[in-house]
Amino acid sequence: MFADLNHKTVLITGSTKGIGRAAAVAFAREGAIVGINSHQKDEAAKDLIAQLEAEGARFAYYERDLKKSGECEALVKAFVEQFGSLDVLVNNAGGLGVRKGLESLEDDDFNLVMDLNLRSVIMTTRFAMPHLKASAEERGETASVISTGSIAGREGGGLGASLYGGSKAMLHNLHRNWVKEFTKDNVRFNIVAPGTIDTAFHADKSPELMEKIASTIAMGRVGTSEEVAPSFLFLASHAASGYITGQVIDVNGGQMCP
Ligand code: NAD
Repeated sequence: MFADLNHKTVLITGSTKGIGRAAAVAFAREGAIVGINSHQKDEAAKDLIAQLEAEGARFAYYERDLKKSGECEALVKAFVEQFGSLDVLVNNAGGLGVRKGLESLEDDDFNLVMDLNLRSVIMTTRFAMPHLKASAEERGETASVISTGSIAGREGGGLGASLYGGSKAMLHNLHRNWVKEFTKDNVRFNIVAPGTIDTAFHADKSPELMEKIASTIAMGRVGTSEEVAPSFLFLASHAASGYITGQVIDVNGGQMCP
């Protein structure tokens, strides 16, 4: 689909399940060299490793809990030591963390959600920047950072998800700032903001609630991870999106039209 992704080095955080997993498979099928990651080498991780091996992909798996800054640094270091460069960073690790109303929130809830959705992105990107800048200079084309935002970052999030929605809104805004700092270095920053996508993220919801949510979506159904993945490819490809930075692509079946 995007020929210039062949041989590119792409690190995707939180990529053994759901949206990240679909993105990892999609990049590998474009011929990219892919770093996959999760906080635990569980059955999902082993399953993806087996699939990528069977497909002949060039990849490595890194078990790192990105809620900790040192782990973010170690992830980037390990990937670059192994593959020699970093052309594209996909910050996808994230999650709801807690579902609690405002009056029940504790400090630990705040720390969990912010570490998971913001520290992970800020610190992984921080340690990736020298390599992304070097990639842009050596290749003479833009390097790319793509983070997974959320419809919740635009409209506030569901009941009990105020910290999550707030963290994603901040993520959207961090990108706007980094565009100002790093466009001179030929590094682009874009967000993929999914609506309701059928992943483990919604495991706490009943089938009835999922149907109710689907009925609020213009397309009348929730999305799949495979329907989100091509947007990452597009934003990673210099040939396809080299003049696009600081944008949010909403992949939500018309659930919200900002
Ligand atoms: P998921 O639970 O299916 O997958 C999350 C992945 O992240 C897994 O591979 C998991 O192992 C990994 N992960 C979790 N904590 C981690 C940590 N501390 N360090 C490293 N890896 C970690 O979820 P998903 O729905 O695919 O969500 C992926 C991203 O998409 C998240 O950022 C989420 O906020 C966002 N998102 C999801 C939806 C949705 O409806 N599913 C909507 C909007 C945004």
